Amino acid sequence: MGKYFKEGRREKGEGRKIFYFFLSSILYLLFFGFYGCAVKPYHSQTRLIMGTVMEIVAQDEKAIEAAFKEIEHIDDLMSNYKPESEISRLNKDGQVKASPETLAVVKASKKLFRFSEGAFDITVGPLIKLWNVKGNMQKDASLIRIPGEGKIKEALSCVGTNFIDIDEKNSIIRLKKKSVILDLGAIAAGYAVDRAIAVLKQNGVRNALVNAGGEIYCLGKKGFSYWKVGLQNPRKKDGVADIVKLRNRAVATSGDYEQFFVYENKRYAHIIDPRTGYPVDNGIISVSVFADDCTTADALGTAIFVLGKEKGEQLAKRFKNVEVKIITK
Ligand code: ADP
Ligand code: MG
Repeated sequence: MGKYFKEGRREKGEGRKIFYFFLSSILYLLFFGFYGCAVKPYHSQTRLIMGTVMEIVAQDEKAIEAAFKEIEHIDDLMSNYKPESEISRLNKDGQVKASPETLAVVKASKKLFRFSEGAFDITVGPLIKLWNVKGNMQKDASLIRIPGEGKIKEALSCVGTNFIDIDEKNSIIRLKKKSVILDLGAIAAGYAVDRAIAVLKQNGVRNALVNAGGEIYCLGKKGFSYWKVGLQNPRKKDGVADIVKLRNRAVATSGDYEQFFVYENKRYAHIIDPRTGYPVDNGIISVSVFADDCTTADALGTAIFVLGKEKGEQLAKRFKNVEVKIITK
């Protein structure tokens, strides 16, 4: 009997040992498994594309390369600075056989033109040229000239999204009037971000951040926590107004603080009210739009900037899952 008990106890003890062995193995695997995931390094790469600093953060360098290629492809289609882009050829020839990408962006722009009652208008091209904010930023203040009423009226006569005709069947975009100039500056960067995210996903990436000079999409998480994004304080260079945590969400900011010139103590920024022909001056200094995709966030930000706080917030309510942060003077 004594032996039996002894043996029985020994067997029990061995069982416990085996149990502890398995427990420690599982804990070991869990710990090093998680640790392994946590330490797989994130690569952050930046490139100058579309006239802005593009940043991609992800764990897979090959996928980052593919995503940058896609952004460059979007720029090749939609740039106003590349003479061979679809948009440049459309502006020059009055019609173009368009890629599905350009068609998608022009269609989205037409929809927002209607929703915003003309505040968002990609035919602002002639006004952008006339005000030449980018050029004037680099000039000595004494050399800056404000366009006269006549010139503004002339430019306005070629502004209106109704001048754009889409032939869906043949994928052709036509401009119904000469001198109409499309400018996708308010939407193309956001669209490029969405395309880059799509390419990252196709390459198996589940966690990434793409930032096109302030138009941002956060995919998944960074390590164990949400991506943290700093929204710029519009009146303090390098100052952060707010830090937000995002997951599978976009944020885009439109402001008057990066591209503007000052003439006789007045600030003239790069967002133009297509209804008046003048740079927007309604007290808003920055609009951040949160949305499920970056194309919507980017374009809506510009539209709200033009519409002003009250009407802008009303417009945002017509979109699903959209939140807005507006900073006024
Ligand atoms: P950022 O370029 O700082 O991200 P936006 O997304 O608001 O800012 O885009 C501003 C650009 O959009 C301008 O540089 C111009 O090319 C274009 N734009 C200006 N006014 C309008 C408008 N009312 N509707 C559509 N596009 C506009
Ligand atoms: Mg925009």
